[in-house]
Parts: sequence; structure tokens; C-alpha cells
Amino acid sequence: MDLRVTEIFLSIQGESSHAGRPCAFVRLTGCPMRCVWCDSEYTFYGGERISFENIFARLKEFGCKLVEVTGGEPLTQKKVFPFITELCDRGYEVLIETGGYVSTKDIDERAEIILDVKCPASGEAERNHWPNLDRLRSDRDEVKFVVADLADWDFARGIIEKYDLENRAKAVLISPVHGLENLAEIAEAVARSGLKVRLNLQLHKYIWGADSRGV
Ligand code: SF4
Repeated sequence: MDLRVTEIFLSIQGESSHAGRPCAFVRLTGCPMRCVWCDSEYTFYGGERISFENIFARLKEFGCKLVEVTGGEPLTQKKVFPFITELCDRGYEVLIETGGYVSTKDIDERAEIILDVKCPASGEAERNHWPNLDRLRSDRDEVKFVVADLADWDFARGIIEKYDLENRAKAVLISPVHGLENLAEIAEAVARSGLKVRLNLQLHKYIWGADSRGV
């Protein structure tokens, strides 16, 4: 079996409650969404078909037991589900970063899910697959809202309250679009909210620059 892959690399996990940890990334090709602030457009097309065995060989070279499967939207390739299961069988700690458009129901239960909820400024909020929020597990899954402005923050806040995400997710990540001029304004709104959420800055962009490739 194989997957269409854009890149496989070793880096520092830049986001989520795992930020700062060494992490190997398997970035799959293709995404049906077109978020206006997307920083991964290079994943939309191209890529290379790589067999599971060759992906595992690359991961073994890295010697890193934390692996994130990301994209693009990794869940649009059906073979990703047996791939995730095999990663878990091999003893990897597995993170799945998904844009929230595809159902998460077939993901191996040992993997941790970082689920995006798209906010209005992304242009893709209509495509959120809301049943994914009902499947969250409070001991392992995280929800991420990429926010471009205070209207997005208000939207995120409404969803957090409506779905009781403070209690239903391991972490709720508020991730300002990188380079926002009103970053402090959003940080202050988060600070004042009293919600159990975490401001999520993309660590890799502060280390390697705005064009660096992270999750
Ligand atoms: S879901 Fe992710 S990869 Fe797809 S367009 Fe949105 S930000 Fe880009």
C-alpha cells in the first residue's frame, strides 16, 4: 500500500499541547478546502506515491517516536487509516492534524486528533463536519481554531460554549493567523475570557521564519 506524500521531515512540533517536542511529520498531498490564509498551498497538487514500508524506513532513520500525520487534509486518502493503525502498532505516538471537513470516525483510537474548526474568515466555516466534535475524547483530542480577527474569536467562543469543549477536549487551541497586526488584541480577549483555552502560536515560524513548514 502507498500514500501520496508531499514531504517527510523531522522538526520541532510547533503547535498544540505537544509544542516544543521533537516530532517527525508525514505530510500528505491534497486538500478539498481553500482556507484564505492557508500556509500549505504547496500540498494541494503533486506529491509522490511512497509505499508504507518506505515511509516507515524514513521514520526509523529519524529515531523519533512522536509522529504527526498532516497535510493538506490527510484524511482524504482512504489508505491513511490503515497507515495510522500500523504506526500505532509499531509503537509510535501518533498525532493526526485534520482540517475538520472529513469524518474522524475511522481513525485508530490510539491516535490523538488535533481537529480544526474553521472560523468565518477562513471562507470555509460552512464545511465544518460537526459530528467530529461529538467524538472528541477529553484525555487525548485537541480542537484548534485559527482566528484572523475578533469576529473569528467570537465565533470560536460560541462554539466552545455550545459544545462544552473546555470539558470535552484535552486542549482548546486559539491559533492567531501568523503575522496578524492585532495579535495583542486577540491575546487580550483570550486572557479576559476566563475560558480554559490555550493561545497557540506557531513555534516553528518564530524559529525558522514565516515560510517554514510546520503542522
Ligand atoms: S484545510 Fe488546511 S491545508 Fe486545506 S486549505 Fe485549509 S489550511 Fe490549507
